[in-house]
Amino acid sequence: MTHWTIFGETLAPGEKRQTVIRVPVGGLANDGEVYPGRRRGGDYEKPAILVNGLKPGRTLLVTAGMHAGEFNGTPAAIRVARALEPSEMSGRAIFLPCVNTSGFWTMFPRMLPEDNYNLNAGYPGRPDGTVGERVADFFVREILPQADFILDLHGGSRGERMTPLAFFPTHPGAREASLKAAKALNLGFLIESQATKGQYSYAASKLGIPGLLVERGEGYLCDIDLVEANRRDILLLLAHLGILPEQPGLRDDTLRRRVFREAVYVDSEWDGLWYPAVDKNRPVQKGQLLGTLEDLYGSPVAEVRARCDGHVLYVYTGLAAPKGEFLIAYGVGDSEV
Ligand SMILES: [Zn+2]
Repeated sequence: MTHWTIFGETLAPGEKRQTVIRVPVGGLANDGEVYPGRRRGGDYEKPAILVNGLKPGRTLLVTAGMHAGEFNGTPAAIRVARALEPSEMSGRAIFLPCVNTSGFWTMFPRMLPEDNYNLNAGYPGRPDGTVGERVADFFVREILPQADFILDLHGGSRGERMTPLAFFPTHPGAREASLKAAKALNLGFLIESQATKGQYSYAASKLGIPGLLVERGEGYLCDIDLVEANRRDILLLLAHLGILPEQPGLRDDTLRRRVFREAVYVDSEWDGLWYPAVDKNRPVQKGQLLGTLEDLYGSPVAEVRARCDGHVLYVYTGLAAPKGEFLIAYGVGDSEV
């Protein structure tokens, strides 16, 4: 194995290092105003743990906390990164356990608070843009080219009840390797995604890098059982990629795994109080009532019905559903794998 240079750091073979990624954003609008730990005029800082295996192999990028408030990936990434022994590894791993550091420390549940930027829809960003655009651009230039596989850990946002699942890219060149990896993990629902503007989907569609976006968690909560499930999946993925030796006993061979051709997302078309009629992880039939919207006097505003047969993946239970708010998602066209 050779030395490894990344983010201006050079690691020797068999070396693990904690570092801080710094994206220059000083002087922009909102600079330093929303992030208590960041001084005005400073960089956008996020923690990174780099592990350079003793032997050559592939590089796995693990990101978590892109949407602040989707917590279960962050402790899992930290725990695996701390426990890894580089001397046992053939390849490299990059752990970014808290991508949206400003959202995390200000308890801003989804986007980057500086500019309300959604890193899962805002790639490739711009080098001379807003804070979020520059963070995305930094990923495109400095981080993604280092990766042979990307695992992006999410966890159901505020008010969402969610079944653990993985999205995998449909783009040729990345699809097969992504799906194969997904089947090596302990996730029952695997959903094809046509997206191109998120981190992993941009990497797949534009750079041909396979990857997965895993959703495990719900409701703006940290669930230690789901942290442990994420920890196991990271280890299983490292083994699947040949970076770690086989990890016996971690994969649940009894789990039923289903691939969905796509997910149907329903957003609110009115301001209303949302009362879902179905829970997550339930089959629905075409025309079935998914939920109702009422006004603040209790009068009905709208009914939402399934457009086709499917299976509910996640559902919003936050009551307040202004126009444009996500209400429910169901997977369609499933087959067993
Ligand atoms: Zn998310």
